Amino acid sequence: MHIPEQLVIRPPSEANSLLVRVVRGCNWNRCLFCGIYDFYETPYSIREVEDVKKDIDALAEMYGDQFETAFLGDANPLDLDTDFLVEVLEHLHNQFPSVQRVTAYARSSSLWKKSLEDLKRIREAGLHRLHVGMESGSNKVLALHKKGTNQDQHIASGKRVMEAGFELSYYLLLGLGGVRLWEEHVHDSAKVISEVKPHFLRVRRLWIHPLSRLNPKIEASEFEPQKPEGTVIELRDFLNALEAEGTVFTCDHVNNYIRIQGKLMQDKQALLDYINKFLALPDKVKASHYESIPSVI
Ligand code: SF4
Repeated sequence: MHIPEQLVIRPPSEANSLLVRVVRGCNWNRCLFCGIYDFYETPYSIREVEDVKKDIDALAEMYGDQFETAFLGDANPLDLDTDFLVEVLEHLHNQFPSVQRVTAYARSSSLWKKSLEDLKRIREAGLHRLHVGMESGSNKVLALHKKGTNQDQHIASGKRVMEAGFELSYYLLLGLGGVRLWEEHVHDSAKVISEVKPHFLRVRRLWIHPLSRLNPKIEASEFEPQKPEGTVIELRDFLNALEAEGTVFTCDHVNNYIRIQGKLMQDKQALLDYINKFLALPDKVKASHYESIPSVI
């Protein structure tokens, strides 16, 4: 029997999804804060379309048509040819007619290279939502971490993706500017989100793995990690600067010090009040809370 390939990671919101690997690893794989595909020894390679279709057939045999959602991995399937994606998506929907939502990770730089027509073809073939690691809207922060994209690409590609009819989910990484660039990180990230107004904004906290590519920069004093309380202040100031009507704002990852969720702009003040209430707690209480939060990928 054919054994389908497994993904390395998926977003928490895809915990119950059918997982289909269309590409191995990340075609960029240079972001200093990441290294996930090195940890799991997964170099980048493109799969043959027939092999992906064989995986889908095997998954259909193993599980039957029981999924409502599916996720395409690994890191950035949107860098693949449009024809490849359309063929995979059509086969997936034929084999799993109950699937109502298909999502994938995507880099802004890859989306930026796709025309509106290509994006519409992919959307119409049945890819519904894109998870984009914005990480920061600051060009300085993006360059520091070798993200390989910039503020203009985040904004232009985000708007094009929305125009093509996708649901868009952007990710922000608190602490990415470190102690020196945090204000610019917060301000410019809020600018991107306020312009694009994605459907979802998902907040994460930078966790520096012992084998992180960032460690040499820290040792050379080129990057000073943010303190726990600093990331909470970043969260507050970022939220305060947002003008993104309709965006669902969520800290849906266990490594967030503050786990809040709400819809902008209606819930903005209540979310800010919650953060300020936390910040007003005694230092000892806050310190013990920070220690209780796990650091995980
Ligand atoms: S953060 Fe995303 S784009 Fe950057 S190396 Fe990791 S998987 Fe690739």
